Amino acid sequence: MEEVKTNIENLIEVKNLVKYYPVKGGVFRRVVAQVKAVDDVSFSIRKGETLGLVGESGCGKSTVGHTMLGLIPHTSGSVEYDGRSVLGLKGEESKEMRRHLQIVFQDPYASLDPRLPVGDSIGEGLRIHRIGDRQEQFEMVQRALKNVGLEDYHAMRYPHEFSGGQRQRIGIARALVMNPKFIVLDEPVSALDVSIQAQVLNILKALQNEFGLTYLFVAHNLAVVEHISDRVAVMYLGKIAELADRKELFKEPLHPYTQALMSAIPIPDPRIKRERIILKGDVPSPLNPPKGCRFHPRCPYAMKVCAEREPDLLEAAPDRFVACWLHQEHSAEEGKPLEISVA
Ligand code: SF4
Repeated sequence: MEEVKTNIENLIEVKNLVKYYPVKGGVFRRVVAQVKAVDDVSFSIRKGETLGLVGESGCGKSTVGHTMLGLIPHTSGSVEYDGRSVLGLKGEESKEMRRHLQIVFQDPYASLDPRLPVGDSIGEGLRIHRIGDRQEQFEMVQRALKNVGLEDYHAMRYPHEFSGGQRQRIGIARALVMNPKFIVLDEPVSALDVSIQAQVLNILKALQNEFGLTYLFVAHNLAVVEHISDRVAVMYLGKIAELADRKELFKEPLHPYTQALMSAIPIPDPRIKRERIILKGDVPSPLNPPKGCRFHPRCPYAMKVCAEREPDLLEAAPDRFVACWLHQEHSAEEGKPLEISVA
């Protein structure tokens, strides 16, 4: 395990990923606007690490996960897995790639066929990819169940016979049975009770240790992300605002949006008080994101430059990336405070 964690070779490279949804209108149903769900996002994920991708709902974090695996078509940009392009593959090539890249959804009940015993659902990928004969497939399903803490006999039961936590274990088993290298975990514990969340997170960690898995962990809950991630990327309105080592980020967030998110995490010690940063206004629409820094209408530190020019995601310290003019060069005039009126 230690060997996997210290290997900083990248397994996944996402470059300038864009996903726009066209909005059609008028008599001729022409494209009249674009919802910019993911807008020029770049990051890498190292072999054996968990990258947490966090942000408010609607910020585009799940869309990043789905687009990376080709589950929804991308608008532009590229995704590489171990040096090989993932997007735009067809036929056998696409099928081959899919084996290595799996996903666990937030709601496993919705992704399980209620008419099938869960053993059949878990083994579906093996049958599609023609991996092993019937006996081998049966054994692989049994092993996957065992790896997520379920019993052999559970394979014969139906999805409605399981609790939420067990169903999520089944979702994980379904990904695991394919012997993947990389898994997108799309809000895998958001729908679960807090006590069950810890169990599922511990299973995910144990599986990562045992099989050297690499995760993209998508979540809106910072406390959960802190528990499982090695590095964390914070998204706001389709862009990455900050990306850093988990410990560094939680110790000293650099981006004002990350600072506001952190200030909302409760501290389990009544003697320690943290000042909550209340942001002005609502998250703007991705249909028409603000010019310049997308966060500027809500940012307590907004300067003139913020309303004019979009900051790039640049390295502010070794292995710490932030998209904010507070950490980038600008003129004295551009650095004057911006007066913003919020309705
Ligand atoms: Fe705030 Fe400006 Fe930084 Fe955006 S670039 S987060 S508006 S200080």
